[in-house]
Amino acid sequence: MGVTLDLKRPALAAPQGSPNLSGMTRAQMQAALVEHGAVGPDKARMRTNQIWRWIHNFGVTEFGPMTDIGKDVRAVLERDFSLGRPEVVERQVSRDGTRKWLIRFSPGVEAETVFIPGVGRAGALCVSSQVGCTLNCTFCHTGTQPLVRNLTAAEIMAQVQIARDDLGEWPSPAGERQLSNIVFMGMGEPLYNLDSVADAIEIISDNEGTAISRRRITISTSGVVPEIPRAGELTQAMLAISLHATNDALRDELVPLNRRYPIQELLAAIKAYPGLSNARRVTFEYVMLKGINDSPAEAKALVSLLKGIPAKINLIPFNPWPGSPYACSDWGTIEKFAAIINRAGYASPIRTPRGRDILAACGQLKSESEKTRASDLRKQAKAEA
Ligand code: SAH
Ligand code: SF4
Repeated sequence: MGVTLDLKRPALAAPQGSPNLSGMTRAQMQAALVEHGAVGPDKARMRTNQIWRWIHNFGVTEFGPMTDIGKDVRAVLERDFSLGRPEVVERQVSRDGTRKWLIRFSPGVEAETVFIPGVGRAGALCVSSQVGCTLNCTFCHTGTQPLVRNLTAAEIMAQVQIARDDLGEWPSPAGERQLSNIVFMGMGEPLYNLDSVADAIEIISDNEGTAISRRRITISTSGVVPEIPRAGELTQAMLAISLHATNDALRDELVPLNRRYPIQELLAAIKAYPGLSNARRVTFEYVMLKGINDSPAEAKALVSLLKGIPAKINLIPFNPWPGSPYACSDWGTIEKFAAIINRAGYASPIRTPRGRDILAACGQLKSESEKTRASDLRKQAKAEA
């Protein structure tokens, strides 16, 4: 299929401007407040606690409402930091209740975030970690969009905040919530942006604020083997692996990263993932591609490949996108495949496609960031001429 891996493709640098406090862990915020002279070291912890509550429990986007913080301190905050949200360029709601936001982080840097009600304990937010992706999985829409850049922790947090704005979940509800789970299954490969993803997870899982436990946060990777142990140590999040094939020849084609980290190396890294147990299983994602990877023999191969790993299997009916080179397996074929897996002791593995009508389902996300950049450049050139 002529797919190449180009990890060195030039990407836009991270945004400049005042750092957004929403993307800082408690320790980072404390250090930044002292460094900028907002507070002395003796008061840093107390002030951080206050500011943290305003941001992550009440969802404020300005310093004005922080009434328990003196005006002089607020003035420094105002001068050196920001709190605002990026712009929501488009909001779509699917017939099935799935919501999708297209967010503009800076000119030409846009990504999508999807909320899926009825997934996880109450509802899952599918967040993006990058704009575009350096990998080119052949069945994935995002894979057709070259990497624009990694998102910062603040930009990952902004996706959570925008969802909570729209769901009306400020201050953090004491009882039942609509947003109960976070999955890093949006645009991009989270293990190529692990530091920002880990910071965001630390903020999201903090007891005060969004307070979603690490057991309800899942990182999905296409198999960046050398980062898997660090991902476990840094985040203690649940792990999902985009497997999609049971032999290297086919996986090399579907997930070209497999040429660098083949299946046996990937399985060895998964087995060593910290905290793995029957109560904390790894999820294997397997996209159902008609006539490509959906035979009963492959279902059996999948079962024997995963022997000895505390695992869940998620069969994902392929979601088509404009120009996609595959078709989704027939329903009967998926059911047969599922039955073989069920007989081996894995429960209810077919993932219902959600939000297909608004291109919000797995692998359908893509933004126009590349285009915007090119047209911006043309506009700029015209203006200069
Ligand atoms: N980059 C990460 C996370 C984002 S993709 C990864 O690859 O794991 C989230 C899931 O959607 C992955 O399992 C991916 O393989 C799957 N996916 C991609 N394109 C798809 C499509 N068109 N239909 C169904 N699932 C798809
Ligand atoms: Fe990137 Fe994941 Fe899509 Fe592969 S499936 S191209 S790793 S976003």
